[in-house]
Amino acid sequence: MKASGAASLAAAWPRGLVASPAIRRVRPSDPGWPSKAAWKRLNDAVDGNLIPVEFPINACLSGTQSADCNALFANVKNPYYIGDNPGITQTLGWVDAWETKPSVYAVAARNADDIAAAVDFARENNLRLVVKGGGHSYQGTSNAPDSLLIWTRHMHDVAIQNDFVARGCKSAPQRAVTVGSGTIWLQAYDAVTTKAGAYVQGGGCTTVGVAGLIQSGGFGSFSKHYGMAAAGLLEAEVVTADGKVRIANACTNPDLFWALKGGGGGTFGVVSKLTLRVRDLPELAGGADFTIKASSDDAYRRLIRQFVGFYRDALFNDRWGEQAHFSPDNKLQISMVHLGLETEQSRKVWQPFLNWLAQSSTAYTIEGEPGIGSMPFRHWWDPDWSKEHHRDAFKADSRSNASPMNVWWNGDAGQVGWVIWGFESLWMPASLLQDDSQEKLANALFAASRFSAVELHFNKGLAGAPSEAIESAKDTAMNPAVCGAFALAIVADGQGPAYPGIPNHEPDAAMGRAAADAVHRCMNELRAVASSGGAYVSESNFFESDFEHSYWGANYVRLAEIKKKYDPDGLFFVHNGVGSKHWTLDGFTKL
Ligand SMILES: Cc1cc2nc3c(=O)[nH]c(=O)nc-3n(C[C@H](O)[C@H](O)[C@H](O)COP(=O)(O)OP(=O)(O)OC[C@H]3O[C@@H](n4cnc5c(N)ncnc54)[C@H](O)[C@@H]3O)c2cc1C
Repeated sequence: MKASGAASLAAAWPRGLVASPAIRRVRPSDPGWPSKAAWKRLNDAVDGNLIPVEFPINACLSGTQSADCNALFANVKNPYYIGDNPGITQTLGWVDAWETKPSVYAVAARNADDIAAAVDFARENNLRLVVKGGGHSYQGTSNAPDSLLIWTRHMHDVAIQNDFVARGCKSAPQRAVTVGSGTIWLQAYDAVTTKAGAYVQGGGCTTVGVAGLIQSGGFGSFSKHYGMAAAGLLEAEVVTADGKVRIANACTNPDLFWALKGGGGGTFGVVSKLTLRVRDLPELAGGADFTIKASSDDAYRRLIRQFVGFYRDALFNDRWGEQAHFSPDNKLQISMVHLGLETEQSRKVWQPFLNWLAQSSTAYTIEGEPGIGSMPFRHWWDPDWSKEHHRDAFKADSRSNASPMNVWWNGDAGQVGWVIWGFESLWMPASLLQDDSQEKLANALFAASRFSAVELHFNKGLAGAPSEAIESAKDTAMNPAVCGAFALAIVADGQGPAYPGIPNHEPDAAMGRAAADAVHRCMNELRAVASSGGAYVSESNFFESDFEHSYWGANYVRLAEIKKKYDPDGLFFVHNGVGSKHWTLDGFTKL
């Protein structure tokens, strides 16, 4: 009687109040954790490539002055050491948000079949599953304690194809490159640009993973000309939550294909291979690097105002990308790149700005000689050429057995093994560059720079790009705001390698909180003039409010439907990913 009474009452409840069948992923301490025999079966299925995950930070358990601990804190400044260790991530943590912790086991996958075996095992045993490629997620989305990790590091075959046609499509054959999903961008650039003299649109940082970057949209130094990296995806091989290996392209599973182009990594399946468009390489590329110090706040205001106008008139086009930084110490740092200009041509572009500075030499000091010039594009990512020409662009992996190809930009070194204090981004609409808005933009940049350093990444906003780049971006899942933005503003702060509970290496939580507050206030000054901007999913706040709208705008609704279709039970979970609101923050319990 009681049971039937309860049942009839339940039928009268509004649907949302009836508890859905609880899903709680199991941890090693739970009785439902797979037996040793079950793990052995998985190990057999992946040919012995199931590995217990070690936690490198344990080197400090025996004492923080030990040689092992010192070696560890030196090694975590090397992205290749980090990448070779399934137990840690490029970012070691984020104050009050997350810290890197190892999975229990990892499948060191070699192909789609290994991935499918791991996906099936996780689904059948109700495990928390996590995927790691390059390990560069700022938000810790490739990190989950008590989980099974699919680790793609060893899947880095790169093959150029001259006549690629996506499966099921009737399009004309085109030049493309197919990469394993553990490939990092330097490996792709080495094959496509250094060796084959061609171009593939990827990311700026050499050690970021191809699969992670493509799935978050992805921008490289030259995206102002070539567009988003995701827009160059022609086909992906992907293992979905049901364990099936699928092809996704414009003709086969086009909905999944679209979601993979910017809908966020670790959400719709595990990508095992990607095929990307390859294009002709211009002969030259180059840059402009210099820092100007203003002598007073007033002089700095004028400098920013002048730069905004100069940017709009001379640099707001598809030749110029990368960054300008506006800092509290009244410095303007220019770190920009160009495409296709001779050294003399690139200097000529900057001459009016340099002339203006020279006219007020008491107010402005250029630190060192402005470095403006060009080089053969083919050698942009070539460590040998860089060494020979004393370009001093890269840091190198100093481990004794390291490949000479293990290099990363000096400019990215501060983010290796770092702990984040605060990180926010905002797309800046191109309307702010109009004559009657430039003053407003300059004032906002000055006001923001009183709190923290503002970086404008011009290559991460597509206004000014060729229409083809903009149209192809519209056919991705990214927030359409990217198409009307002249730049992505990024404000971030953090500290070098640190880990909670390791004496003398603890993150500075008090300083971190103060910095996060400054980052937020700084960004609010920009939000005041760019309220509808939106943020870039991969480079944004862990605590992003209304993240669905911020990251994907109107595209979120379609992404949520695709998520339901391919992963109805939420096997794939990442923090602030599509569908993540149905889960607790750790991704273990369905709400
Ligand atoms: C120093 C640094 C510089 C950066 N520079 C740029 C830049 O120039 N341009 C830019 O656009 N972004 C940049 N980023 C952001 C970067 O593109 C993203 O963080 C990207 O998602 C990292 O990919 P990953 O494979 O290295 O990282 P991971 O942490 O391994 O992966 C990121 C996400 O993708 C998922 N994922 C990884 N592999 C797969 C797979 N095979 N299948 C399914 N899901 C997968 C993971 O689960 C995770 O959720 C930078 C980040 C850092 C730390």
